[in-house]
Amino acid sequence: ARSDQSDDPVYFDPAQAAAMRRRIDIEVGLRKALREHSLSLSYQPKVDCHGTLQGLEALVRWQSTELGTVSPAEFIPVAENSGMVHDITLQVIEMVTSQVKNWQGKGIPVRPVAINLSAIDLSIPNLVQEVVSRTDQLDLSVDLLEFEITETALMVNGETGLDNLNKLKELGFRISIDDFGSGYSSLSKIAYMPVYAIKIDREFVQDVPGDSRREKIIHGILSLAHSLDLSIVAEGVENAQQLEFLRTNGCHLFQGYFFHRPLDITGTEKLLATQSEQ
Ligand code: C2E
Ligand code: CA
Ligand code: CA
Ligand code: CA
Repeated sequence: ARSDQSDDPVYFDPAQAAAMRRRIDIEVGLRKALREHSLSLSYQPKVDCHGTLQGLEALVRWQSTELGTVSPAEFIPVAENSGMVHDITLQVIEMVTSQVKNWQGKGIPVRPVAINLSAIDLSIPNLVQEVVSRTDQLDLSVDLLEFEITETALMVNGETGLDNLNKLKELGFRISIDDFGSGYSSLSKIAYMPVYAIKIDREFVQDVPGDSRREKIIHGILSLAHSLDLSIVAEGVENAQQLEFLRTNGCHLFQGYFFHRPLDITGTEKLLATQSEQ
């Protein structure tokens, strides 16, 4: 007997068939979007406890003619499973760098922009060269680009992954651990990684203050991160109570709807411009 009936055609499951159809639609549509360079970016601000802008995170957006708006939370996993995610990353790098160059050209003061990397990107031996050839080409300073890597991606990648991270760090790019707390890594491992900051996962942030277990986990993460001299970013901050809890416990930077939703280019430009007046 088979233990896995999930792909046994005898047991036709309409919900499963629909899910498969959706994955195929996304895969086909995404391939077209990549060909046509029709993906775009939102930028979500990172602020300090005074609300002052300290950086931006680039978040990819896909408006499909056939499927409407599809969330990256849905299409990035499909892209990872169909060999397209690195092409997305390359287009994101291209968009971010030309946008930053464009802002500089207009005299708009820029802030560092973080790009999300997937585990697959880390396993590409050529990754660093791809990044550097782009920043060289546009004559962009390395401290304007950062990379966010999820905790799990960091753990699954062997030699090449660590090699890429070390090279990026040596060149001056900052690296953050994304979604910290959601995976299984320990801070003791992080201590040996070329990492500058950790981002506390929204899942933890959303339950504080109040959930005493989550409070304790955040206390633990923060005190270890402090002793390792890591910068700490809280993601998904939605209200003043969360901010107060995180701030008094030593978080340095904050991201979330309480401050700013991800902004389109016009919104980002406006924000960058007002920051310079302060
Ligand atoms: P992430 O890197 O953890 O990004 C944060 C997500 O949380 C974003 O969703 C953002 O819009 C959302 N968010 C920010 N503040 C709040 C808040 O206060 N409340 C709530 N409920 N949500 C908040 P988004 O843009 O849909 O992206 C989802 C995920 O897709 C990202 O999670 C990231 O893992 C992935 N992703 C997005 N852009 C890229 C990309 O360019 N490359 C790769 N590889 N992955 C990306
Ligand atoms: Ca991120
Ligand atoms: Ca995150
Ligand atoms: Ca997250």
